[in-house]
Amino acid sequence: MDILVVGSVAFDSVETPFGKAEEVLGGSATYFSVAASYFAKLGIVAVVGDDFPEEHVKMLNYRNISTDGLQTVEGGKTFRWKGRYDFDLNVAHTLDTQLNVFSDFKPELPEEYRDVEYLFLANIDPELQMEVLNQVKGPRLIACDTMNFWIEGKQDKLRELLKGVELFVINEGEARELAGEASLIKAARKIFEMGPKTLIVKRGEYGALMFSGDHIFSAPAYPLEDIFDPTGAGDCFAGGLMGYLAKTGDLSDANVRKAIIYGSTMASFNVEAFSLERLKRLTVSEIDERYAEFKRLTHFEDV
Ligand code: AMP
Repeated sequence: MDILVVGSVAFDSVETPFGKAEEVLGGSATYFSVAASYFAKLGIVAVVGDDFPEEHVKMLNYRNISTDGLQTVEGGKTFRWKGRYDFDLNVAHTLDTQLNVFSDFKPELPEEYRDVEYLFLANIDPELQMEVLNQVKGPRLIACDTMNFWIEGKQDKLRELLKGVELFVINEGEARELAGEASLIKAARKIFEMGPKTLIVKRGEYGALMFSGDHIFSAPAYPLEDIFDPTGAGDCFAGGLMGYLAKTGDLSDANVRKAIIYGSTMASFNVEAFSLERLKRLTVSEIDERYAEFKRLTHFEDV
């Protein structure tokens, strides 16, 4: 196993200007792991209730994702998230969050998960992220995501966690909120003081910015004519990014830049359909072709 991820496995109910979906498969760990599975082998740490259908577990296993760390609570209910997007698809409006089985979840890592090289703490309660971090033996790379729900509800725990995180991947609005700064450059500086060495700011349809030391790298998002549902785009971005880093084993600045483009590639496919419908049916050649299109999109030379 190359990458270990802890995060939510969920039923999402989502409304966008283009349609709606009720109680479909979602969750930060789910989107992340399926996206990353095109590059690397994964293990998931999460919890579901006994209302979680076996077919979803089978889909994860089919994609070579280990579910040995996915607990099922008999008589418990799976995490549920309800959200709405208006025409500005960059902003998710949370209508309801039901933690359900996550409220009493105590992650216990299977022995074979503990010496994993790449750890991704996907969006979930920072206390759970910390418990997983404390059980791994010394990964090569520790990366993390979060959201406004936790920035507002558990910021002290999040800040404690960030002391041990190297790569932090969050939304633009959340970076500003956490740092209390309108300027992203100032926000990055403040976030570096909290622990992370590299900050990647996800900017929805405007792409992503990486801040590392004094360098800034800017990547566009893929210009899609139709975006159906942005849910999970951020997690798929992180999945493509971490997947490519784990596949290549190269953490140089140049390679992280490429990984960001793979992240953007995976996110661009995900938004083409609700839930994981597009993502789980991708082929490696589709991924490579879109990566090549990204190269053409951004290439220019001095005249
Ligand atoms: P994103 O990539 O930011 O669009 O993430 C969307 C996913 O995050 C959805 O599938 C939700 O199930 C999940 N999610 C929403 N709120 C939370 C939360 N508070 N903690 C963990 N996961 C969440």
